[in-house]
Amino acid sequence: MTPIFANLQAVKARIDAAARACGRDPSAVSLLAVAKTWPAECVVEAAAAGQRAFGENYVQEGCDKIDQLRAAGHSDLEWHFIGPLQSNKTRPVAERFDWVHSIDRLKIAQRLSEQRPADLPPLQVCVQVNISGEASKSGCDLDQAAELCRAVAALPNLTLRGLMAIPAPAEDEAAQREPCRRLRQFYEQLRAEGLVLDTLSMGMSHDLEAAVAEGATIVRVGTAIFGARDYSKT
Ligand SMILES: *Cc1c(COP(=O)(O)O)cnc(C)c1O
Repeated sequence: MTPIFANLQAVKARIDAAARACGRDPSAVSLLAVAKTWPAECVVEAAAAGQRAFGENYVQEGCDKIDQLRAAGHSDLEWHFIGPLQSNKTRPVAERFDWVHSIDRLKIAQRLSEQRPADLPPLQVCVQVNISGEASKSGCDLDQAAELCRAVAALPNLTLRGLMAIPAPAEDEAAQREPCRRLRQFYEQLRAEGLVLDTLSMGMSHDLEAAVAEGATIVRVGTAIFGARDYSKT
């Protein structure tokens, strides 16, 4: 058994245990394998172990990997863009990815909608919310997020699926759960106001249990699957 295969099994066991511990159906939580900095061979290895959904943070790296894998016949994988996105880099993302989790302003969403090729299904998107305040610079401020969600939901070639957050790192589970709970409460509020949402993207290698306990439907896990990243090689 390769390390990636064994790590995937271990992460799935953590998700299962966390879901059961709070009475949730483990199949309601899907695993996004975050492959940033890892070469296409690592994605192939995870795919051989049954993993289908992969996350990328950097436009160039992610697009190159997608092109390389599709050319090699891996056309059944699902690609999620989860990193910061500048408006001059939206086109390659709109042309290749299935999901974008990191919508933080309307301009980005409008460009993705305009640039989504007509022969592809709508791009599935989440609005990224800054729920940790000063501690995090990424994501839309909570007090503007409802308006952004309504505007994104109205765009023709996007489907708004839910919310994403990257809470500030915290040591104990109670502190990890707090921002996740705020995101879930905001999500419930938007649903009560009539937005059709089914996705809460939160939880990473160190805090996936806390996120699952607070209702995460997608956890984004890199290190616990592929190992510690070495940024000096990128
Ligand atoms: C890198 C990254 C992850 C994965 O983080 P790990 O701690 O390696 O599991 C998840 N979400 C986002 C947005 C990331 O940038």
